[in-house]
Amino acid sequence: MLKRRNLLSAMVGTALGVGANPLLTFAQDVTTIQRTGRKLPWRNWSGSQRCEPDARKAPATLAELQELIASSQGTVRPVGAGHSFTALVPTDGTIVSLARISGVVDHDPDTLQATILAGSRLGDIGQPLEDVGQALINMPDIDEQALGGCLGTATHGTGATIGCMPTFVREIEFVDARGELVTCSPNNNAEVFQAAQVSMGSLGVMTRVRLQNQAPYRMRRETKWMAFDDILAIAQDEADRHRNFEFYYVPFTGMGFTDAHDYTDEPIGSTEKIDGNEGVQDLKTARDLLQDWPKMREFILGTYMRTLDDEVTIESSWKNYASERNVRFNEMEYHLPREHGIAALREVREVLESRHREVFFPIEVRWVAGDDIWLSPFHGRDTMSIAVHRYFEEDFTPYFKSIEPIFRKYNGRPHWGKLNTLGQDELRALYPRWDDFKRVRAALDPGGRFLNDYLRSLFT
Ligand SMILES: Cc1cc2nc3c(=O)[nH]c(=O)nc-3n(C[C@H](O)[C@H](O)[C@H](O)COP(=O)(O)OP(=O)(O)OC[C@H]3O[C@@H](n4cnc5c(N)ncnc54)[C@H](O)[C@@H]3O)c2cc1C
Repeated sequence: MLKRRNLLSAMVGTALGVGANPLLTFAQDVTTIQRTGRKLPWRNWSGSQRCEPDARKAPATLAELQELIASSQGTVRPVGAGHSFTALVPTDGTIVSLARISGVVDHDPDTLQATILAGSRLGDIGQPLEDVGQALINMPDIDEQALGGCLGTATHGTGATIGCMPTFVREIEFVDARGELVTCSPNNNAEVFQAAQVSMGSLGVMTRVRLQNQAPYRMRRETKWMAFDDILAIAQDEADRHRNFEFYYVPFTGMGFTDAHDYTDEPIGSTEKIDGNEGVQDLKTARDLLQDWPKMREFILGTYMRTLDDEVTIESSWKNYASERNVRFNEMEYHLPREHGIAALREVREVLESRHREVFFPIEVRWVAGDDIWLSPFHGRDTMSIAVHRYFEEDFTPYFKSIEPIFRKYNGRPHWGKLNTLGQDELRALYPRWDDFKRVRAALDPGGRFLNDYLRSLFT
């Protein structure tokens, strides 16, 4: 594989009449923690959100958390791993992390349900769950997020018959604005449960969750490079044929790759794999050098991609969903009615390639089953989700501004954790239970302690 990457580098260099360009290495974005007075700044993963809260707290126990909320003044915003791109966390009040309130605390071998503390990172619960004979039903494409954060924004993986992560939840416990514990489930406090399943930390601080899991399972993950038009021709059928199916389109190449997961009992193992982070750096290099020659860019990248072999990885489910994403980006993702997804994607490609030669990140396309959760973007409909990305050091605004109207035209709903420009009126029109959510939220938090400026603009 290294040889092929050198070949790509040489091809780009030859096309420009210069020597092979050294492939760029990722410049680690080191967060400089500076104390300004007594304040410890906060920023999210991509750097799109920042603030200087009065306090950043990480209580070690439930009692400490309750005491913190009962005795503090002003806005309180829960944070998970800070991987959302939208302004959900920033506040000049208090940011509370549950990083120290994590782990699998309880499990039931008959129902295959487990109680998990909300501060647990997804990547840290796979092994403990396997040890007690359970596994998450599905996972997103990274496993850095905290469970509370995933539920907060309706985080999803891919799978036409599988819902977003909040659909796995059977009971939620959270600390409300008075510091009191609230427990809710479909049979107890049902309206609060409906609101709490996807609530962006606007009802309180979630402490523990009972999740429906399944018995541990092994997955066969197969990645195949194909022409974009060939992928589109089979995509809807492939989504129905595989347990999990998604694909990526690489702009200015005419090529993409599909990624399918299915149950298997084959032995654990893997073929040689491309390093996805190096791949993105290659695309950036090609963009840097060939931006003004799109035909040349397509010829070189497309030729290279046609040489790539299929990859197969057989692994325990929880090790086979996530990839490492080291090249930072900003992202916009909309969830569209499934039947409009392909038409929307064709338009996205057309606008991208005719107006935005500066873009090099692939477009990601996934499927998620509909549900009945009040603020789930999958409420009442099966979806195809389309995500566009821009390198974290580059201005995402012009690109996202060109693409968002396409998503809106097809009645898409934005991912709660990913960049979008919708305000309350537009969102209310997309969510039939919007006012029910606001009513339940206001009853639990009449003083708006869990609202920052962004959430206040949505829910008051
Ligand atoms: C590289 C990358 C890959 C991603 N891949 C996917 C993907 O495959 N699928 C997908 O759907 N999304 C994906 N996302 C988006 C991400 O999953 C969501 O934004 C998720 O919410 C982030 O989780 P977090 O733990 O970082 O939460 P944060 O971003 O810290 O918080 C998210 C929300 O949850 C609330 N919250 C956090 N903890 C609690 C708590 N204990 N109680 C109450 N509220 C709480 C916060 O207040 C906030 O409103 C990705 C993001 C990145 C950066």
